[in-house]
Amino acid sequence: MRPALARLFAPELRELTSYVPHGGSFPVRLDANEAPAVLSTEAAERLLQSVGKLALERYPDALAAELRGAIAAHMQVTPEEVLVGVGSDEVVAMLLTALRRPRDRSESATVLTTTPSFVMYRISARARGMRVVEVPLDDEWDLATESMLRAIEFAPPNVVFIASPNNPTSGLASLHRVEAVIRAAQDAIVVIDEAYVDYADRDAMSSYREHDNVVILRTLSKTGFAGLRVGWLVARPELVRELDKVRQPYNLPSPSQALATAVLRQHWPDVQASIARVRAERERMATRIRELPGFAVTSSQANFLWLRTPSEAGPLFEALQQQGVLVRSFHGRGGRLARQLRVTVGRASDNDAFLHALAQVSAR
Ligand code: PMP
Repeated sequence: MRPALARLFAPELRELTSYVPHGGSFPVRLDANEAPAVLSTEAAERLLQSVGKLALERYPDALAAELRGAIAAHMQVTPEEVLVGVGSDEVVAMLLTALRRPRDRSESATVLTTTPSFVMYRISARARGMRVVEVPLDDEWDLATESMLRAIEFAPPNVVFIASPNNPTSGLASLHRVEAVIRAAQDAIVVIDEAYVDYADRDAMSSYREHDNVVILRTLSKTGFAGLRVGWLVARPELVRELDKVRQPYNLPSPSQALATAVLRQHWPDVQASIARVRAERERMATRIRELPGFAVTSSQANFLWLRTPSEAGPLFEALQQQGVLVRSFHGRGGRLARQLRVTVGRASDNDAFLHALAQVSAR
């Protein structure tokens, strides 16, 4: 590119790389925390036929009123507390676009999150020129409260992101630690990202009800409908009204609005049955992996497992790929992540293929 054109780009882009999922074709893909198909082929066909009646020449409902109504009923809140996005990725982007006025004497707005955690908090924030503070999780992969409180004191954040259950470490953040962070950051927006909460024993809605600065993030991506790209946040109506100003007009396509509404209103029992199957599979897999010498598995509240391998995870990750099984490895990040793999809990047959491959390659 000509230097004159290159100079036009935000300087922060130099430190970013595009998000590219692992390429190649693998018979067993347990790398992206997708869920197995929820609906039978016939039920899925019927559902897809229902969108055949949509007027494709028309823009979608700009307010996504039906969908927001369905989400509100699902979450036991009002539609005025709901903002929808093209996946929760877009909701994260909207939050950061809106909440970027520097605090006090800082030069740029600050985002506080943990590490390791979901990478889009950092990428989205850096793309907007925001400062990002990442506080390492403790030895149990839980929030390190003291360090979080110190970060809040020394670099007052605009937004705090806590993923619970956390990606990639699979556990919930302890409620009392989350509460301590919320209290310390009462002049900031605290986003509790519950992308995986449908697989967990509890959610953080009580914190939402108690504190006006808490925002809850949810998605349909992890419970069988990643293709729809539907995510949302729940926040006080006055916050939603401000955030809605940065939402693109007609952001959510009409097929996604219609299908997501149907999923929430008519197919949730099917989703729940699928969640129960995945949770049972999760425990079965964890037990089997723990039987292998040198492996450890964190107790999971999500639809994936966070496992420590007997030695550096790279060679194992490659060997699994050679057996046709793709998972996520963190060996490239080094340090305490060098021996960590993240494995999605999939269909029983895929999980069996993974367990079989893992037993084979770790016996070598
Ligand atoms: N939050 C967390 C914690 C995630 O792991 C992901 C997906 N990797 C997302 C949000 C984004 O999900 P989506 O945009 O598909 O709703």
